[in-house]
Amino acid sequence: MTKSARSSPRRKRIPQTPPHKCVKGRCKGFIFAGNITLAINKLMFRFSKKGPVEYLEATALTACDFLTHAFCTRRGGISEGNFVNLNFSSTEGDSKDNVRTNWRNLAEAFNIDVGRFFVVNQVHGEEILTIDRPLAELIVPEPSQFDAIITDQPGVAIGMKTADCVPIFFVDKVKRIIAVAHAGWRGTSLSIAAKVVETIITGFACRADDIIAAIGPAIGPCCYQVDEPVFNAMRGHKGRESFFSSGREKGKWMLDLSLANKIQIIGKGIPDRNIYTAGYCTSCNRDIFYSHRGEAGNTGRQLNFIMLTVS
Ligand SMILES: [Zn+2]
Repeated sequence: MTKSARSSPRRKRIPQTPPHKCVKGRCKGFIFAGNITLAINKLMFRFSKKGPVEYLEATALTACDFLTHAFCTRRGGISEGNFVNLNFSSTEGDSKDNVRTNWRNLAEAFNIDVGRFFVVNQVHGEEILTIDRPLAELIVPEPSQFDAIITDQPGVAIGMKTADCVPIFFVDKVKRIIAVAHAGWRGTSLSIAAKVVETIITGFACRADDIIAAIGPAIGPCCYQVDEPVFNAMRGHKGRESFFSSGREKGKWMLDLSLANKIQIIGKGIPDRNIYTAGYCTSCNRDIFYSHRGEAGNTGRQLNFIMLTVS
């Protein structure tokens, strides 16, 4: 990822995404069934397109003129088969050439040099990387295993790849600090979202009131049934009775990962009104998003990135 965003990408036929199939009959379109709050939140997000790349944006973040961000969909790339088509991971079996071309497509669409995208090895942990100097001066501890990145540096597009896990953007509107976090059930049980807020507030002397959080597409409580180890891992988490509900099978629970993370963020002092949840279930909407569980582990990864623009 060192070539210029303006280098000419290899042109290929764009494969079509598979049609949406809701096998459970529980899908009510894009919104988790029956949740008015999420229906209202949906209005705070919109699908957009730059070049071939289709993505979801949070309008509260779009209103910040010092930012670029995108919760990418799986549309706008060249990958084929299970990886159709804007896959950003080459560790799941997709062709490295196709993944490289997808990165170039994204870079060109957003007019960001491809070398400015910064991703890490995500390990479902709680480690947070803070980038407080230009990338050229940054020494990242090896192995670079992190599940959140915070930066005050313009021109660094920090990203997390997901396929069901929750991507979360944080923005301090006043101090112009941004962060991205990746929270699956393990990261959620380790309170990664709460730790990101703590690190932003203590590390950059931010006020909780100034921070906005945007929670992107993730597997919804309509599709995410979990067993006892997951339920027990969140023992002691505030609001557990609201983000777990009865499972379809005995001894199982439906988990609302987005809500669990929202509750953590509120718990660190960020006002509810500053938190936006997309409410798009990745498993219900597999024609738009990759879903690890919905596609039995045989799929790609979408990228979620945010960048402070260079003035
Ligand atoms: Zn669903």
